[in-house]
Amino acid sequence: MNEKQNKIDRRNFLKTVGAAGFGSILTSAQTKAGPNEPNAIEPNEPEKEQEPKMPQVPRRKLGKTDIEVPCLALGATFNTIENQVVLRKALEWGVTYWDTADTYAGGNSEAGIGKFLEKNPQMREKIFIVTKAFGTKTIEETEVHLHTSLRKLHTRYVDLYLIMDREKDEHGLSDPDQLTNDKGRLERWVKFAKRRKMIRCFGFSTHKNMAKCLTAASKLYWIDAIMTSYSFRLMQDAEMQDAVAACQEAGVGLIAMKTQAFGQKVETDEDKKLLEHFLQRGFTEGQAKIKAVLQDKRISSVCSKMDNIGTLTSNVAAVLDKTELTREDLDVFKRYAAATCSGYCAGCAHICDRALPEAPYVSEIMRYLMYYNSYGEKDRARELFAKIPSQVRNNLLGTDYSVAELRCPQQLPIGKLVAEAVSKLA
Ligand code: SF4
Repeated sequence: MNEKQNKIDRRNFLKTVGAAGFGSILTSAQTKAGPNEPNAIEPNEPEKEQEPKMPQVPRRKLGKTDIEVPCLALGATFNTIENQVVLRKALEWGVTYWDTADTYAGGNSEAGIGKFLEKNPQMREKIFIVTKAFGTKTIEETEVHLHTSLRKLHTRYVDLYLIMDREKDEHGLSDPDQLTNDKGRLERWVKFAKRRKMIRCFGFSTHKNMAKCLTAASKLYWIDAIMTSYSFRLMQDAEMQDAVAACQEAGVGLIAMKTQAFGQKVETDEDKKLLEHFLQRGFTEGQAKIKAVLQDKRISSVCSKMDNIGTLTSNVAAVLDKTELTREDLDVFKRYAAATCSGYCAGCAHICDRALPEAPYVSEIMRYLMYYNSYGEKDRARELFAKIPSQVRNNLLGTDYSVAELRCPQQLPIGKLVAEAVSKLA
């Protein structure tokens, strides 16, 4: 980024956006990105390589790799076949980190990125592509899975390949023993895939038992990067802070996800206070949450679902803006996190799993309910819920959650929330 871009402040950014036609960007997205008009948004011409006209989001080094990634990553959990305009606009701002998976949008996330790359092969090296090995329990399955993703993405390699849970049909690693309990086969496969230049970096995604997973990974030199839940809430957690520090010391790159830290959607006075505080500071609440995480320089990038131009532009504005959050701002987050903790599951599943060995899916159920209540992803929430083994699902309403509730550090009313999940998701 040149010096002029570095000096951009919020006012200049808004002016730049205005001069470049913010209205036309929005109009373009709103009028062309309708799901029934996929052809209307297709680029007629491949993207031309040219000097960026728009300010570019800052970049940060990814752990001990020599790769720099933009500090804002496009979470492409949506249908990118029908929404190519977001990919194109993301590139204009330098949002060149694209996070996908074969399971996102029923396969239409990888396929849409593949469509873009097929049309714009000259852009491949500029984009940092991340995809994931969902549902692979063996090395052989992982190998096949990677080949399938490469085909769909129209690329010979991915920049970062993330494994998920290798035992349950779950997305996200929750038991770090799975990295090493196969007599070194996974490690050897990673090296082999790198030698064949199919992957540049390797790691995993986690939103359950994150601190344990990060701490374990910090001792494994072959883990390059981790995508982890991290937010103003988890920044208050001492175990998580130690784990982040261990990763930084070991050079493991960290990408934060779920930075908005939504819990179950309950409007409280605390929410209003938070909103008002940051509006007075000139940010939306969502922008402030991203800024809080990026103020932690150990985090290389924040991955955020950006399936429309409005969200993309708002997030880009947040990361381009140079204003630092003050001690008072961070204290506001701290107080808000404490006051609203009983609506947020922190993913410390080892606690409730141990209290409920017969129903070890509480943290998943809390997350699926959050997808339903706060993300509005009702179908995805139901699909994931349906994957819980039927013998567990059938006993959910007959289980006594009182011990887990007593031990839960977030004081979640687990029994009540499980009942709500069963009524909405079953
Ligand atoms: S329900 Fe409570 S103990 Fe279980 S993962 Fe969530 S916050 Fe942790």
